[in-house]
Amino acid sequence: MSMELRDIGPPDYKKFMHPVLLKNYGKWKSHEHVKPGVIKHISETGDVVYTVRAGIPKFISTESVRFLCDLADKYCDGYLRFTTRHNVEFIVTKEENVDKLIKELEDAGYPVGGTGHSLKAIIHCVGYLHCNLAATDSPSIAKALYEALYDYFKRTDLPERIKIAVSGCLNMCGATNASDISIIGVHTKPPRVIDEVVHAQCSPMELVKLCPTYAIKPKRIKKNGKVITSVEIDPEKCMYCGNCYAACPGLPIHDPENDGVSIWVGGKASMTKQGIMESRLLVPFIPNHPPKWEKVVDIVKRIIDIYLKYAKPDERLGEMIERIGWEKFFELIDVPFTYQHIDDFIFAYKEYRKGISFRFTKHVK
Ligand code: SF4
Ligand code: SF4
Repeated sequence: MSMELRDIGPPDYKKFMHPVLLKNYGKWKSHEHVKPGVIKHISETGDVVYTVRAGIPKFISTESVRFLCDLADKYCDGYLRFTTRHNVEFIVTKEENVDKLIKELEDAGYPVGGTGHSLKAIIHCVGYLHCNLAATDSPSIAKALYEALYDYFKRTDLPERIKIAVSGCLNMCGATNASDISIIGVHTKPPRVIDEVVHAQCSPMELVKLCPTYAIKPKRIKKNGKVITSVEIDPEKCMYCGNCYAACPGLPIHDPENDGVSIWVGGKASMTKQGIMESRLLVPFIPNHPPKWEKVVDIVKRIIDIYLKYAKPDERLGEMIERIGWEKFFELIDVPFTYQHIDDFIFAYKEYRKGISFRFTKHVK
């Protein structure tokens, strides 16, 4: 039987690589940071290429994509790539094209930078625009932060890189678990239960299974003389993740009064020095306050000021905090330490044992 061509997995990346990169694959000898946004790569074959990196909006129009592609045709033999932090990168093989490309990008409003020890592009999830779980407007927070911190994108004299990410909820699609500074939307109340909608459109037993903290149990109630099935939610167990709402429109979790954001610090995905570090809670809750997000911007600026003042060369924010101590860091930022900061993971096993899907594992004595 012949194999069908299936739409599974990404295409072979080599099909999209610049021929010079393909020719020198695995042969790169060294690279040097020429100036903000420009890296020079030298191959053992003698070939040289320049990477030019520019920040772009995360929601990008067709006109903007066409503009960037035209630049790639003009200066880069038609090749460009988008990085995991939403930058655009051009591969330039002729040195004389580097400054011409930068001028065209900057004239059009695209900042060239984000390389070396700088602020990397601020990433965010789609938030309200495309996701029904969002507790906040992550793109607009990223925009407000970008406006306040723009200069750091073009500076390369920071102690190390700074990565900032924004997620609309605790699912953290914006890589917020491993960024130096993370803004995460939070719901603070359990979903409301609209019995008629749960009965008509949802499966109570499915909802029981998908709640990670077993906060949901089925119920039968009488409505207008008829017995209907629905669910009830234990507010003591609910952690406001929104999983149930994603599966059932009868459990809306949005709450304009009680939704907001939290701020986390010290994460990184790189293996250098102390290895991968998880972000940790700094500010448990700030009410949503669009469009300028002054409180969030103020705290993030304070974090960066403290980092610039206290970090040693090549030290990431989380490494600096571990060195000076979290207590000292809270004191410097002038943020109160609250009950929400105390890890409750030591009680996790007790919670697991209450669930119908609990299984003993080998390491439980
Ligand atoms: S982090 Fe939350 S709000 Fe953002 S895309 Fe993921 S699920 Fe949606
Ligand atoms: S919001 Fe999350 S924790 Fe709360 S009931 Fe729904 S699924 Fe369970």
